Amino acid sequence: MPRVLVAGSAGFIGTHLTGYLLDLGWEVVGVDNFSTGKPENVERYRQRPNFTFYEMDITQEVPEGDYDYIVNLASPASPKKYLSLPVDTMLVNSIGVKNLLDLAKETGATFLLASTSEVYGDPLVHPQPEDYWGNVNPVGPRSVYDEGKRFAEAITMAYYRYDRVPVRIARIFNTYGPFMDVADGRIIPNFAYQALTGQPLTIYGDGSQTRSFCYVSDMVEGLFRLLTYEGLDGEVVNLGNPDERTVLDVARLVVKIYGVPESFTFLPLPQDDPKRRKPDITKAKRLLKWEPKVPFEKGLRRTLEWYKEVVNVG
Ligand code: NAD
Ligand code: UDP
Repeated sequence: MPRVLVAGSAGFIGTHLTGYLLDLGWEVVGVDNFSTGKPENVERYRQRPNFTFYEMDITQEVPEGDYDYIVNLASPASPKKYLSLPVDTMLVNSIGVKNLLDLAKETGATFLLASTSEVYGDPLVHPQPEDYWGNVNPVGPRSVYDEGKRFAEAITMAYYRYDRVPVRIARIFNTYGPFMDVADGRIIPNFAYQALTGQPLTIYGDGSQTRSFCYVSDMVEGLFRLLTYEGLDGEVVNLGNPDERTVLDVARLVVKIYGVPESFTFLPLPQDDPKRRKPDITKAKRLLKWEPKVPFEKGLRRTLEWYKEVVNVG
């Protein structure tokens, strides 16, 4: 069976991807420093004989060994978290990525980078295809993440071009589902927590900005195909669900599903918050024969059920 290193395994997507790979019988080595991930996400797999975990900061050290695949998910991902860990975010996306690329080079592993739709910044092209270069403010508050990920992509392609490391880059668009920390700060956990605890939902700006939400099981399937399909070295592929929604629509759907009264507080829009975002997934469909299957309302219902258990109200 293949041996894979998953960096960022204690985070939201890492928890799902680890479970998926363990179920396939792969030997999974997880690494995480718990900066935004949780020990309980690791504990759930501790008894699995094909799982090993190292608590490490990948900017300092990485678990040495032979790997067929290395998946790098390690990075704060929510605006709340990366704005509170600005330098750590830049270091994990530069030194951390370099350390993993060196390991891939040594061991001949295929390397998958989890990049982000944030490399398109506040996009002037809609929807966003992979050949759009983006509209990023290099000195704005979000630049620690956006430019960090742009550097991560650049160094990944440098190891591909100059060292022939087999790499693939996933540009992940907003993904949601169980195991996203309720205190993570992103829209779905925020709205779930607020609705469950009888608080008004916090809408930044007028709520007309859009995002396109992908359920996590679809994302994991896309990541797996991008990691393992033949002939994809050096490819950059958008992964996400093109079903575009306004923030206000998401808020209305959350209160409807929970059956609570509609109560919203409008707060200032954070600086450089992208106005519209939607993936062009033509390339993913062609190369991976992949497209999301879980409709937003269905995925949201499942996710909101999970938050109900976690928040432990009624
Ligand atoms: P997350 O914050 O839940 O998970 C990230 C994990 O990386 C955490 O467990 C954290 O502790 C770990 N980590 C951070 N710095 C580390 C370090 N120096 N050493 C070791 N571990 C470290 O976020 P997520 O939503 O699961 O995102 C996973 C990846 O996917 C991230 O790289 C993110 O940028 C990317 N991504 C996610 C989304 C999304 O909507 N979820 C969208 C675009 C891109
Ligand atoms: N947002 C909001 N209220 C919240 C959290 C987020 O209105 O409590 C908005 C945010 O301004 C953005 C969108 O929801 O326009 C998605 O935000 P999130 O932090 O989930 O991810 P982003 O796509 O901005 O990285």
